[in-house]
Amino acid sequence: MLTETPAGLYCAEGDFHIDPWGSVPRALITHAHGDHARLGSQAYLCADACAPLLARRFGPDTTIESVPYGRPITLGRTVVSFHPAGHVLGSAQIRVEGSEGVWVIAGDYKRAADPTCAPFEPVPCDTFITESTFGLPIYRWDATSAVIAELMEWWAANRDRGLTSIVFCYTIGKAQRLLAELARVTDRPVLAHGMMMPMIEVYRAAGVHMLPAQTLVDRPRGISLAGELVLAPPSARGTPWMRKLGDISDALASGLMRVRGVRRQRAYDRGFVLSDHADWPALLDTIRETGASRVLTTHGHAEPLARYLQEQGLDAGIIRTAWEDEGGTDDYE
Ligand SMILES: [Zn+2]
Ligand SMILES: [Zn+2]
Repeated sequence: MLTETPAGLYCAEGDFHIDPWGSVPRALITHAHGDHARLGSQAYLCADACAPLLARRFGPDTTIESVPYGRPITLGRTVVSFHPAGHVLGSAQIRVEGSEGVWVIAGDYKRAADPTCAPFEPVPCDTFITESTFGLPIYRWDATSAVIAELMEWWAANRDRGLTSIVFCYTIGKAQRLLAELARVTDRPVLAHGMMMPMIEVYRAAGVHMLPAQTLVDRPRGISLAGELVLAPPSARGTPWMRKLGDISDALASGLMRVRGVRRQRAYDRGFVLSDHADWPALLDTIRETGASRVLTTHGHAEPLARYLQEQGLDAGIIRTAWEDEGGTDDYE
């Protein structure tokens, strides 16, 4: 019912692609991250809450249609609906019902609570296509509140030493989740790199409660940044912009920080293990909850997860993705 094509996953019965990496007539989009939502297709269809993010990324000349979570629509000989994935604002699992029963394409998802988006809802299906970004038993997340407490301690210690704290994190999702989680424990405003502001504004317009954030440009000149907390995208690391920050301590907020070798290799002072993806137990729980008899894994550690599922007696396989060949997924984890 869904097949792998050069442009990505294609459904012939409904004549649409899901998260295509080529230009196609009709693209169904799970969420607004760059490895799932790519410019160049003729028309896009996504969940309502995803539409403002896509519009901001793609600009006004793009055709973007959206539907509320849970509302079935007919596309060709299929019935399609979008269901919350808990990954970032507007993220969705796509349910497709057709001649081969019910398929659910989960896109990226997580089970941890996130104040910036609707929580994941398990959707019963026959075939479940799951992400496997962190599909190894070593990946297990601590409670978000514990990670935020660590971050607050680190920020305070840096303040005592006269350092500016900078946390690198992705522009869609992670930055807003940090701002929302921090708003529960402090009212101290933070600074954000200018590249982050448009998406922070989209989240605010969607009603997500977050700490106030301003850019360096908004601040009066000549005032030291020592003691402040700054959020910036990983791509800003090592750019001349950094010089404005004075003496810094830096950190990366990512599930990748679970692996000590990665922390050392990237030479961040600190790593905060905060991921918008399911960890190993959450992947297995979710797969079980869908009741799917067939599971296809994609993204990251697809092979180990598929092999594990086969050992458990499930019909499991993998789907390859173009972005893995490009080696460019780090920013989204
Ligand atoms: Zn994503
Ligand atoms: Zn992804």
